[in-house]
Amino acid sequence: MFRLDGRVAIVTGSGSIRGIGRTIALTLAEQGAKVVVADLNIEGIQDTVNAIQEAGGEALGVELNVTSKESNEAMVEKVLQAYGRIDILVNNAGISQKVTVADMSLEDITRVFNVNMFGLFLCTQAVLQPMKEQKYGRIINLSSVSAKRGGGVFGGPHYSASKAAVLGFAKNLAREVALDGITVNSVAPGLVNTDIWKSLPEEQAQSVIAGIPMGRPGETKEITAAIAFLASEEASYITGEEIDINGGSHM
Ligand code: NAD
Repeated sequence: MFRLDGRVAIVTGSGSIRGIGRTIALTLAEQGAKVVVADLNIEGIQDTVNAIQEAGGEALGVELNVTSKESNEAMVEKVLQAYGRIDILVNNAGISQKVTVADMSLEDITRVFNVNMFGLFLCTQAVLQPMKEQKYGRIINLSSVSAKRGGGVFGGPHYSASKAAVLGFAKNLAREVALDGITVNSVAPGLVNTDIWKSLPEEQAQSVIAGIPMGRPGETKEITAAIAFLASEEASYITGEEIDINGGSHM
């Protein structure tokens, strides 16, 4: 069940060495997908590609800046040349910044929206045509618990707003492409055990954990299992939905 053999998956932001995107790429490859590792970070791309290949999977690294229409279109072209189809897009690339509304500049909010929302839009738009022609597609977006309850220790108000925008965008798109065989869903992780979490001072970490009923951050694998499911054929009747994965910190 939930195999992805023969499927071609693009994962943006998967060149992050200890981030969620890398585990998404590895998980989809384990399930049999050919994975396109797309990121700004060239060294990180190679690292994820190597990890997938060492595990016996198939991967293609492509440099991508999601904020550029040309870069998204060039990536889609490369993927179609290499594999002839695009079945799955995971919009994972994202940036954050800890700042208050009082201190936030227009440049700050523009930078965060440029990647988290406008970049997601450009990348999604670039894959729609091939997915429509195939009459098959799975688009999965990374939102965040902070879209629903406000930012925590890491994200600012612009981050929360951008991740809430993703949810509204996904629901509209889900309606738009429902008859094309394309589903559009989102996952909203709570705090995940990545480098940024490890960098938190002990006292602050304890106060964050106190707000999580399960008493710990999530592991990247606990996020990617849901993504692999939403990417599968078995999830064919789920669209416009979001899955909260947060240890109970928002119910
Ligand atoms: P990360 O910073 O480790 O990785 C993000 C990746 O995106 C990096 O490799 C970076 O190079 C890439 N990227 C940034 N800008 C880009 C651009 N313009 N074009 C292409 N790639 C770009 O982040 P993470 O912690 O692994 O988070 C991954 C996703 O999950 C993000 O969307 C984030 O908002 C979301 N999320 C994370 C957490 C968490 O606790 N880590 C919680 C909720 C949601």
